[in-house]
Amino acid sequence: MKFLANQPLCLNKLAALSKLPIHMYIIKINIMNKISLLIALLCFGLVLACNTKNDKTDTGSEEQATENPVIKRIAELKANGYEIVDYHAHLKGGLTMEELLEHSKETGIDYGVAFNAGIGFPITDDSTLMATMQQYKHYPVYMAMQAEGREWVDMFSDESIAMFDYVFTDAMTWTDRQGRRMRLWMPEEVFIDDKDDFMDQLVGKIVGVMAEEPIDIYVNSTYLPDTLQPEYDALWTADRMDKVIEAAVANNVAIEINARYKIPSAAFIKRAKAAGARFSMGTNNVDKDLGTLEYSIAMIDECGLEPGDFFKPVKK
Ligand SMILES: [Zn+2]
Repeated sequence: MKFLANQPLCLNKLAALSKLPIHMYIIKINIMNKISLLIALLCFGLVLACNTKNDKTDTGSEEQATENPVIKRIAELKANGYEIVDYHAHLKGGLTMEELLEHSKETGIDYGVAFNAGIGFPITDDSTLMATMQQYKHYPVYMAMQAEGREWVDMFSDESIAMFDYVFTDAMTWTDRQGRRMRLWMPEEVFIDDKDDFMDQLVGKIVGVMAEEPIDIYVNSTYLPDTLQPEYDALWTADRMDKVIEAAVANNVAIEINARYKIPSAAFIKRAKAAGARFSMGTNNVDKDLGTLEYSIAMIDECGLEPGDFFKPVKK
């Protein structure tokens, strides 16, 4: 009431100050009120829109988690006694341990984080190997050493290697009979004079790695260079598969079912299971995309793998 009673006086005073006739000043105030109301309404609308968008995003990721058939299958397998572990993850492409653990929570996949050690990698001796162990050992993941090249056996002490929960390697780096050191994933470093001869040398290298190197898992199993990949089924003959499988069983080395390369083939895995081999699942990510072990999970179903068919390290 006091305000209303004072209003004409105030308006008169303000109109006088702004040098406008009183009726013009009232119109101006009305317009200003309308503008203020419009701004307020716009702000309210914006806040509402943002909230709705957030709601949509949240609901979206929740739906994705429950609707993703692989994540659903992982939950079912775990309920049936399977341990779903990606034993071949890397902190590469800027991926942090915290992001990896967040992904683990979203997917239900546990992780083994591997650090590459060998010629041309950041870890080349006991001190760099142990520094890595100290940096990450308190995280709730398995600590893995990925041994690189064939020279690693002489680069690290048995005591340092034993600090890790498990050790793995692949047969993607080796020197052929002509003395050419190859990295099979680099086309310019691959030398194939004769496909069958190349395959026989590769099988010989894999068998040698399993027999001579103290590893728990053979990873990127049955990997072929780009040029040979279209002929995978023809080149991986039953005889070649059996040589690798026999060596894995004899040396108690698990065979990785790799989700990134989608190897080994179902035919290989079935043969290996029948021979009593054990398996591990792994992604070998090169960036932040850890995926969901899609191929490995599919192989559990396609090849009838059971919980007892899988490698399991002891967490140190
Ligand atoms: Zn790797």
